[in-house]
Amino acid sequence: MQEEAVHGEKMRIVSEMAASVAHEIRNPLTAVRGFIQLMGVPHLAPSKLKFYQEISLEELDRAQVIISDYLAIAKPEPEKDELIPLKDEVQYVSQVLLTIANYNDVKIEVTLQDEQMFIHGDRNKLRQSLINIGKNAIEAMSKSGGVLEIGLKEQSHKILITMRDNGVGMTKEQISRLGTPYFSTKEKGTGLGTMVSFSLIRAMKGKITITSEVGKGTEFEISFSADPRGLL
Ligand code: ADP
Ligand code: MG
Repeated sequence: MQEEAVHGEKMRIVSEMAASVAHEIRNPLTAVRGFIQLMGVPHLAPSKLKFYQEISLEELDRAQVIISDYLAIAKPEPEKDELIPLKDEVQYVSQVLLTIANYNDVKIEVTLQDEQMFIHGDRNKLRQSLINIGKNAIEAMSKSGGVLEIGLKEQSHKILITMRDNGVGMTKEQISRLGTPYFSTKEKGTGLGTMVSFSLIRAMKGKITITSEVGKGTEFEISFSADPRGLL
């Protein structure tokens, strides 16, 4: 009975996400279609042509961002249930984030406890969740030459992954809207990244705690109970 409930909840999340991806991708595609049609108008001024081309490329890029924010869910691979070595995973995610950080003039400081730690779940989904949260942290600092601190440690049978930024921060109202679809304060935001991250982390029985102060920065703490099988 309980398994059925979990399955039902998963199906609900997946179908909600599929519906919103379809909706979000349709807009840029419709726009691009329109512009390609306009490009076919006879005797079009070269400046107009260039303009239509630029907007089309921007819209296609936007569609790509939407897809990559959703990647973990959109991937048609069966759900995996593996033992995830967290130290390796957090190191990998830090490398991926470093390329985005360099581009935004942000530094990354990684502090990992020496021992390997394990949780139980889907490695790709964990990656996607952490990358979405880290990307937001970097984007929150992009104008201030900030520092993203990434941490991993085990503390009284809990494993804690932290991502702390010294960026714009959030109000209580903004924090409460995190994880709901389409909440974004960014001009080109999708408002999908945290929704995907939160549902994936919850599916892996992780807990998310957010501490934030406007003008000071934000900390995301993701906690899991340590998988005893990792100790064998
Ligand atoms: P997007 O990044 O496309 O806006 P997300 O779902 O990833 O969508 O994030 C939603 C919103 O949450 C962001 O627009 C931003 O306002 C807020 N947010 C998330 N993480 C942070 C952070 N680390 N610092 C400040 N604001 C954040
Ligand atoms: Mg985002």
